[in-house]
Amino acid sequence: LRDEIGRMERLSLVGQMAASITHEIRNPMAVIRGFVQLIQERSPQAHREYFRVIMEELDRTNLIISDFLSLAQNRELEMETASLNASINDLAPLLLADANLRGQSLEVDISEDLPPLKLNDREIKQMLLNIARNGMEAMGEKGVLRIRTAYENGEIKVYISDEGVGIPPDTMKSLFEPFFTTKTQGTGLGLPLCLSIAERHGGRIDVQSAEGGGTTFIVSFNILNATGAHNTP
Ligand code: ADP
Ligand code: MG
Repeated sequence: LRDEIGRMERLSLVGQMAASITHEIRNPMAVIRGFVQLIQERSPQAHREYFRVIMEELDRTNLIISDFLSLAQNRELEMETASLNASINDLAPLLLADANLRGQSLEVDISEDLPPLKLNDREIKQMLLNIARNGMEAMGEKGVLRIRTAYENGEIKVYISDEGVGIPPDTMKSLFEPFFTTKTQGTGLGLPLCLSIAERHGGRIDVQSAEGGGTTFIVSFNILNATGAHNTP
């Protein structure tokens, strides 16, 4: 138990440090971005491309910082009793736009008799978005991303399937390690963040994949964590 408390204290210390460092980095970065944008607008055409890259890299740095902050803070979540389906329905238009931009399509199939769950809507969406984006990034044009919910054996499940490149066995081991990425533009913080969000909802993440045969991420929530009429037969 003492080890566990020590771990929690260290985590919260890291969280507080992350929050203040993030703040200190973000402010100057916002100023830099503002001025870069200004110079870009007034620069000769030949230099525009350089400025575009500078802005892109600034935005990517920002993304790494916010992913890292969410991961390090591990803050106490404000939970509400709601349906997972509602979060998915909210997220669907964003995912559809993203998929269409890539020439891919999206299929959403939500189960009508999903019991409510104690959840934090913002975090759940962040988790699903991260997993779905990974799926899209693993596919070429014409791929289909499928999101399905089900209530099985007392568990609420979300299946996120892609038709992408699949995950080789040696990659599978490192999937949830912070900073593990196989992408040139990756942060490797997406899945660790997803896992932390799932666990804080009393859930877990399973992965099924065949090399070249697509991947399915399954997020499961035990009904004991859920509330509502479905608990009684
Ligand atoms: P990032 O997306 O920044 O690389 P993630 O933590 O989201 O970081 O993912 C880590 C790695 O897991 C990815 O770089 C990729 O190799 C692998 N991965 C995750 N999801 C999929 C998927 N749906 N299909 C194939 N590989 C995946
Ligand atoms: Mg990712």
